[in-house]
Amino acid sequence: MNCQDTQNLLDAYGDGELDLVSTLAVERHLQECPGCTKRQQNHHALHEALQEPALYFKAPTHLQKRLRGTPREGIHDVPRYRFWSWRGASIATASACAALLLWVLIALPSRPAADDVLTQEVVSSHIRSLMANHLTDVPSSDQHTVKPWFDGKLDFAPPVTDLTQQGFPLVGERLDYLGNRSVAALVYQRRQHVINLFIWPATDLADSGTKMMTRQGYNVIRWTQAGMSFWLVSDVNLSELQQLADVVQHPS
Ligand SMILES: [Zn+2]
Repeated sequence: MNCQDTQNLLDAYGDGELDLVSTLAVERHLQECPGCTKRQQNHHALHEALQEPALYFKAPTHLQKRLRGTPREGIHDVPRYRFWSWRGASIATASACAALLLWVLIALPSRPAADDVLTQEVVSSHIRSLMANHLTDVPSSDQHTVKPWFDGKLDFAPPVTDLTQQGFPLVGERLDYLGNRSVAALVYQRRQHVINLFIWPATDLADSGTKMMTRQGYNVIRWTQAGMSFWLVSDVNLSELQQLADVVQHPS
């Protein structure tokens, strides 16, 4: 018997599950091979450690009774050590840990909240509108021009208000596409800053307070009001953006 054969049998040998011929063959090899003897001693030490009574939970009496009453079909023909050798148990535990770790590493970061995805889309859309020279489809601050323009392009009527009096002139509007639907984008200006206000029908109709976020250096404020989702995004500072949110929420 060579080292490989011996090592393959060490688990079963340690568990006392080998037949007489194999046991003798393993013992003969161990007598003349220090390497395998060392391995066998390590196995033995680990085996002993796993026998510690502190590691075992004694099943309550009612559970023991129930298990004894359960027929154990289908496992009589499988060698016992294959099923529940200490090595099998440790491999199973290691596999479970590895699977859990994988899940934590892969599943969690790849499943951001739907809100996060939408926030990212809103910010990307804002950046695109500035880069692609496509800030507005209709450069107009006249809400009587803007409202009809959206008719027939959207399946809802976004509330359009010019807020020049409040320091936020409406400079135009365009159609955009966010969260798998067409949305209205109203473009406001504050000094040299561009502010996009995205509006679309809310999935959750209940009014909500404002939520503020910052992504890639852009400030975002969102809220739900009268069945519509409102998303403001700009590089203007947060307090001025909040000021705009206030006047959009409470037009005088
Ligand atoms: Zn050997």
